[in-house]
Amino acid sequence: MRKFNYYQPTRILFGWQRMNEVGKEISRIGKKCLLVTVKSFPALKPVFDKVKKLCTVAGVDVTHFDDVIPNPDTNCIKLGSEMAAENKVDVVLGVGGGSSIDTAKAIAVGVTHGEVWDYRLGQKRVTKTKVLPIVAVPTTAGTGSEVTPMAVIKNPDEKFKSALADWGLCPRVSIVDPELTLSLPSNITASTGFDVFCHSFESFLHKRASDYTDLLAFEAMRRVIKYLPVVVKDGSNRESREALSWASTLGGLCITNTGTTLAHGIGMAIGGHVSNIMHGEALAILYPEVNRWTWRYAIEKYATVGRLFNPDLENEPDKVAAEESCNEMAMFLKEIGLWISLRDKNVPKSELKGIGNDTMKLKNYTVHPKVPTLEEINTLIKRSYQR
Ligand code: NAD
Repeated sequence: MRKFNYYQPTRILFGWQRMNEVGKEISRIGKKCLLVTVKSFPALKPVFDKVKKLCTVAGVDVTHFDDVIPNPDTNCIKLGSEMAAENKVDVVLGVGGGSSIDTAKAIAVGVTHGEVWDYRLGQKRVTKTKVLPIVAVPTTAGTGSEVTPMAVIKNPDEKFKSALADWGLCPRVSIVDPELTLSLPSNITASTGFDVFCHSFESFLHKRASDYTDLLAFEAMRRVIKYLPVVVKDGSNRESREALSWASTLGGLCITNTGTTLAHGIGMAIGGHVSNIMHGEALAILYPEVNRWTWRYAIEKYATVGRLFNPDLENEPDKVAAEESCNEMAMFLKEIGLWISLRDKNVPKSELKGIGNDTMKLKNYTVHPKVPTLEEINTLIKRSYQR
């Protein structure tokens, strides 16, 4: 076996109706909580109201910061950090998708460190002991942010998405309650669910993959392949929602211990340049081209994943199964309604060069099975422009 380290400091409370325990959990950590969410809207308003009530009943004061935006930026984090400081909060609670949880994490850093952009990857180090305790309650099944030591943040002036990364950003407690995902519309279910697949698959491809993360990655991929098409068609299917919520957490545990590869690097760069693309959509746009370029450099791994999609590939040699796995993933994207291109999302052609250059600033491409050149990255981006 390969040598590996594995670490995971978050207490995970998983299961239906576990959200009811949020007040009790917060009260064990602090007395003044900043609740971090998007603006209230019908699907999530009852959840936000209930969280506030449960905290109040447990004796916790709640201040509500509800200015989270998808792909959170440094401006919104600054506002949240100021609110946290004014109210002297001692715990930060993110309720929502990855954008809300990441904003909560970034505020937990910002309130004690100042400008968070100075602490992005490769810059100053976050002081773990100064980060306020974080609690996460995901309402999407996607990012796995409920267990990762990362917060993805964007600087709108630089059109660049990077991340804060430190073990202090792992939530103390995460409550993963599939009930909260029942209200997700089909398109967000598809894009967040595909993100789960990408975390698991890229963890498997990653140079730091281990027997432990492979175990988690297989189980997460198996669940996404089986249940995501079901739940995209029928969002009320509880068995599938439950399977995907757990798959999302498993995907998060994988990337916490490995990381992600080329597609995530380009996907982050796209997120920096354009704001109307969901993170999972960016990955769906890139996967067909990245797969076609990569499979021959990771034949065994691609063959293994191809066989997860289509067990008939067991009878085929690895090379055939590996190439076929690209077709299987493409068919899967069509099935979940994510056969899309950069052009479909109205990305201006003038942004493509910047997206390529910014991919090189992030290091994900260096841990891909074959390290691409800038020219190769630009070709993949160009090919993803029109499908
Ligand atoms: P999101 O948080 O941006 O949410 C997408 C949309 O879904 C929003 O409009 C939100 O209001 C809505 N929504 C959320 N829950 C809902 C529900 N239950 N019912 C109805 N609508 C709901 O999407 P996301 O994909 O969860 O998060 C994306 C962000 O997470 C990106 O910024 C991405 O870069 C980041 N990310 C972080 C990590 C990490 O480890 N920290 C990992 C991967 C991605």
